[in-house]
Amino acid sequence: MQPLSGCQSKSGEGLLHYVKPGKETGKRILVLSMIHGNELPAGEIGFRWIRRLEKLSPHNSWFVVPVLNPDGVEAVTRTNQTKIDLNRHFPTKDWEAEALNYWKKLGGAPAKFPGDKPATEPEVQCIISLIESYKPNLIVSIHTPFGVLDYDGPAKKPKYLPLKWKSLGHYPGSLGRYAWAERGIPVLTVELPEKLPAGLATKMDRFQDELSYLAQ
Ligand SMILES: [Zn+2]
Repeated sequence: MQPLSGCQSKSGEGLLHYVKPGKETGKRILVLSMIHGNELPAGEIGFRWIRRLEKLSPHNSWFVVPVLNPDGVEAVTRTNQTKIDLNRHFPTKDWEAEALNYWKKLGGAPAKFPGDKPATEPEVQCIISLIESYKPNLIVSIHTPFGVLDYDGPAKKPKYLPLKWKSLGHYPGSLGRYAWAERGIPVLTVELPEKLPAGLATKMDRFQDELSYLAQ
């Protein structure tokens, strides 16, 4: 794994990534985990998928960034070093009008602060340029703790589901709104439970093999 060129966290830590090229007819799948630093099981699945890919010759291409918010991991916080929730910080069209109001309306939890302006944080700038250069057909964003699969994309549902299939909607400044609602790139938000129950990691392996069904 190499640090992504031009990509750093706020404190200057490199963001590691893993790339596995696939066949020409395959899809491009971008996997992001730990955009929230206190959701360790998300990183566990991200690394697990990388280890599987190391042994496979997949049809699809994979690009995995297993720890998007290393400063948050270090501090055990949802937010990054600037205390911004990176998943409310994407420059969606409604950001200026909605993001701060929406946050205040929900009680202004510090852990969900969207920032005073969108996309000032290097971690989000990195994902934006990655989306532009890699042009993924599907983005998989791994989180905890709700224990559901929350899909923003065309009406499709994989046959094999390791968790409940349930839409949670998207928010001003969220990756789901930025990528799917505004750019037509489907986003599957995997919300793992807070602790991985026995057997779920193996189910997530099987699910990894089915993900390309959701790619556009
Ligand atoms: Zn999260």
